[in-house]
Amino acid sequence: MQALVKTMKGTGCVELRDVPVPSIGESEVLIDVKACGICGTDLHIYHDEFPYYPPVILGHEFSGTIAAVGGKVRGWAVGDRVVGEPHTMACGICPLCRTGNRQVCPHKRSPGWGIDGAFAPLMRWPEPALLHRIPEGLDFTTAALTEPLANVVTDVLLTQAVMAGDVVAVAGPGPIGIMSALVAKAAGASRVIIVGTSDDEAMRLSLCRSLSAIDHVVNVQKDDLVTLVHDTTSGRGVDLFIEASGARAAMQTGAQIIRKLGTVTAIGLTGKTNIEFPYDAFMMKSVRYLFNISTRYESWDRAIRILASGLIPVDGLVTHRGPLDQWQSFFDALLSRKALKGMFLF
Ligand SMILES: [Zn+2]
Ligand SMILES: [Zn+2]
Repeated sequence: MQALVKTMKGTGCVELRDVPVPSIGESEVLIDVKACGICGTDLHIYHDEFPYYPPVILGHEFSGTIAAVGGKVRGWAVGDRVVGEPHTMACGICPLCRTGNRQVCPHKRSPGWGIDGAFAPLMRWPEPALLHRIPEGLDFTTAALTEPLANVVTDVLLTQAVMAGDVVAVAGPGPIGIMSALVAKAAGASRVIIVGTSDDEAMRLSLCRSLSAIDHVVNVQKDDLVTLVHDTTSGRGVDLFIEASGARAAMQTGAQIIRKLGTVTAIGLTGKTNIEFPYDAFMMKSVRYLFNISTRYESWDRAIRILASGLIPVDGLVTHRGPLDQWQSFFDALLSRKALKGMFLF
């Protein structure tokens, strides 16, 4: 079968390769991949900015059906429609695992960077306990948004970062930023502001302008964000700043517009070892600054319910979809911000 493989360490080093169909063990299942989104993580791996174990098939934002079931697997059958939490190979015995935090176990190796992932028509899935059922009526393309949405659910909802009535600003109008804005509004935010740059105008900010849940769409290079926030909040500043850009300039902006005793929640990575950070400005405002990586059971369960109920409009997010052999043009479009979400269909 054809798979998109990160072949070795270094920048680039990604190619379509013929690989054997995976075999499964007694406690594993084989997934017939139907859709798999391209994540910021895949792009970070492309640029050698995220840990990985080459050669490895990329891709973790999958939806699919179960194609084969090992003899010892209970609760799952061939044909079941599934998505899966990527917390495979967690050890189960370290303090993190034993306190219910397998998502940050140091031994974890996820599909798509630690073990072979879902940029391939078939994927070996070693831990059926990490699967979630896709409800009836939820299509595979939308279901493949569960993983990124689960990250948003974790960082925006499970942290209790947002409260009804909050004025919320989101930096970074990519898929994560837009879903964060939509989730914050669905959770009761009174005003939601999304902030991008001129590079985001063509694709990302124009989609944001079409979404009624987003009250203000700001191009920080053209519009006066500080005055907008001042006027919107009677001079207080925003209650919640969602940092979904990983950009240094956005953190400076966040320090300017967050209110005293406000909350910042950081989603995603900068891709850099060090970044200039307005430490004292956040300190002087007694800001609660939340870091989190990865997701847990409840994130997935809740993300699936949000998608299945249509609580947030995600239709416009997937701008590029097609077969695996279009990977180079999809990656290029994403890296140049001419795409919002790319997705491979099988
Ligand atoms: Zn992802
Ligand atoms: Zn562990």
